[in-house]
Amino acid sequence: MSNNEHLFARAQRHIPGGVNSPVRAFGSVGGTPRFFVRGEGPYVWDADGKRYIDYVGSWGPLILGHAHPAVVEAVERAARNGLSFGAPTEAEIDLADLLCELLPSLEQVRLVSSGTEATMSAIRLARGFTGRDKLVKFEGCYHGHADSLLVKAGSGLLTFGNPSSAGVPAGVANDTLVLPYNDVAALEELFSAKGSEIAAIIVEPIAGNMNLVRANPQFVQAMRRLTEQHGALLIYDEVMTGFRVGLQCAQGLHGITPDLTTLGKVIGGGMPLAAFGGRADVMSKLTPLGPVYQAGTLSGNPLSVAAGLATLNEIRKPGFFEELTAKTCMLTEGFNAVGRELNIPFCAQSVGGMFGIYFAEQVPDNYNDVMNSDRARFNAFFHDMLEQGVYLAPSAFEAGFVSAAHSGATIMATISTARLALEHAKR
Ligand code: PMP
Repeated sequence: MSNNEHLFARAQRHIPGGVNSPVRAFGSVGGTPRFFVRGEGPYVWDADGKRYIDYVGSWGPLILGHAHPAVVEAVERAARNGLSFGAPTEAEIDLADLLCELLPSLEQVRLVSSGTEATMSAIRLARGFTGRDKLVKFEGCYHGHADSLLVKAGSGLLTFGNPSSAGVPAGVANDTLVLPYNDVAALEELFSAKGSEIAAIIVEPIAGNMNLVRANPQFVQAMRRLTEQHGALLIYDEVMTGFRVGLQCAQGLHGITPDLTTLGKVIGGGMPLAAFGGRADVMSKLTPLGPVYQAGTLSGNPLSVAAGLATLNEIRKPGFFEELTAKTCMLTEGFNAVGRELNIPFCAQSVGGMFGIYFAEQVPDNYNDVMNSDRARFNAFFHDMLEQGVYLAPSAFEAGFVSAAHSGATIMATISTARLALEHAKR
């Protein structure tokens, strides 16, 4: 028995499914999850001492790679001064100031500990502000695991084939209206029928939880126009895309100013940190100023804030995103070239440091397109890559991530590995 197998068997005794978050269990790809003991730059090492090039990066946060010296040093320094106070600190003001400076739609921001908390709080705030209950989300988008968001969601729910969760009261699910992604006509129809009841639209502005699916410009503009016309709020869930697709986030790429934005992953540099923010008139409805309650024992934790500040200070350096974007393009262009050469339905695309790979003729536009991709081939490809030392997300429904620590040579090596894996997958 390998160490990974041994640990997985042991893990299942006291942890449901052996994991603390479902996709980690390799449920849809099969096989034994890798237990990691160390990460450095673009690499991770598992419990059997095997090294992998990592394209998961803790599901997005590690934009600088594993154990970046500036981030580790900042966390160590913060730790020596105390792990948590549950009281205000100067560093959290620095982080709030920096987030508001980098993202013009943020007039005010509040720090929380996970993306789930950020989206859950943003929705409560939107409901409290508008005095309305209905929420619009899109099929295949994942916004964390708050009750009202687990309706036709993506990520682990898709991986395990059940896009809506048990345990969500029907009354709650009834207030979540689900539409197809990128469908302007459906959006217009819903707003003309129910516009006055809708508190908010929440959207992944570039979806990354049904693999990577880009929102088209007409769709993005329709969301902004219809919410404005009907007095609803537009919430950009940039937990994944924030400071990952570019320094101005997806909203900068779209030229859209949302009313509220949720952030996570990169802004915590690998530590538990997330945020929600936006219009000051909306944010001022939060306690202690207003009637919408939201709180957290570890919100604005000093170690998380230190990691976040250190990360943001690296990625705002001139040329950072140009380089990351070019490297990620090199990877996806390499994948596309191999797919063409071997004449198999395989393609890829990227935005900034985020990418999608698809066993399909062309990149998908919505949930149905994604569901029509060849999952059996993905699973074979995933295991082949894993065997050859490349760690991809263990699901056909997740985006991948490149970090600044991935060199051109690392990426070329990955493309060569993919060529071999695709030759096998072709058989
Ligand atoms: N929103 C989006 C767009 C996400 O990708 C995720 C996590 N993958 C979340 C929210 C939830 O974040 P967390 O896992 O930190 O609760």
